[in-house]
Amino acid sequence: MKKVRALVLFSGGLDSILAVKVLEEQGIDVTAVNFASYFFDSEQAKKSAEENNIKLKIIKNKFPQYHWQIVKNPKYGYGRAMNPCADCHLLMVKKAGEIMKKGKYDFLATGEVLGQRGFSQNKNALKNIEEHSGIKGKLSRPLSAGLLKPTEVENSGLVNREKLFNFSGKGRKRQIELAKKLKIKYYPSPAGGCLLTDKEFGHRLKLMMENFGADDIVVSDFVLLKFSRHFWFDKNLIIVGKNKDENNRLKKLKQKNDILLRPDFPGPSVLIRGRKINQGIIEEAQKLIKKYSKKM
Ligand code: SF4
Repeated sequence: MKKVRALVLFSGGLDSILAVKVLEEQGIDVTAVNFASYFFDSEQAKKSAEENNIKLKIIKNKFPQYHWQIVKNPKYGYGRAMNPCADCHLLMVKKAGEIMKKGKYDFLATGEVLGQRGFSQNKNALKNIEEHSGIKGKLSRPLSAGLLKPTEVENSGLVNREKLFNFSGKGRKRQIELAKKLKIKYYPSPAGGCLLTDKEFGHRLKLMMENFGADDIVVSDFVLLKFSRHFWFDKNLIIVGKNKDENNRLKKLKQKNDILLRPDFPGPSVLIRGRKINQGIIEEAQKLIKKYSKKM
């Protein structure tokens, strides 16, 4: 008999590992799929997949651009920082759904848990994702299925609903118990790997969108957001290196139209990126070098 094939949206966190293993327990052939963007990478997914013997597909191609569109202009708004989680979940499900159809998988599953995140995983949000996913009926949430309406995947017998779970809320107790039962060797602690959930990072991104114009930001600008000392003057960004490592990185990141200032006394390197850098901006950067040189 032909084996049922499922694709599972995979972050590498405990819930997504459980979603894979719960389906594998039912004899389903599972492939995990992970997306990378400008604001999160696939390192955790790779590690969790390797440690738990999970087949993994990583999708980079074009996804970062799609993701950036929703970060700029989320239909369902932001979470506590600049994280457009409801839009992001929907985008991932849609894109994974396309891969599912193309690869002739029988259905797509996610590790979503009802009520785990008030904003993006409440009952309405989960329903909305399914409605707009492009794969209605072919989407399964094995960890919370018992609290949701039976899906076509369950009704048709591709998945045994009796062996799915009814987890809800923010706690991880039941997930950890299940991980033990399923002999899951490795899972990460629940640290967020997405820069957009960091308020400071979100603030820097917001200022960059306002000053450069969201539509004019280019890929090489995103990298600069990881530096913490940002100063804006007349729509120009001045970044002051915090230590030797940052100074070296700024040197490497310099682009053709940037200006890099390196003092001939112990002090920080400064990178200026802007659309109209003039002498006044350079003088501001020099003042910042003096200000921070005492602290190096
Ligand atoms: S935390 Fe980041 S990766 Fe996760 S759903 Fe929100 S925006 Fe997307």
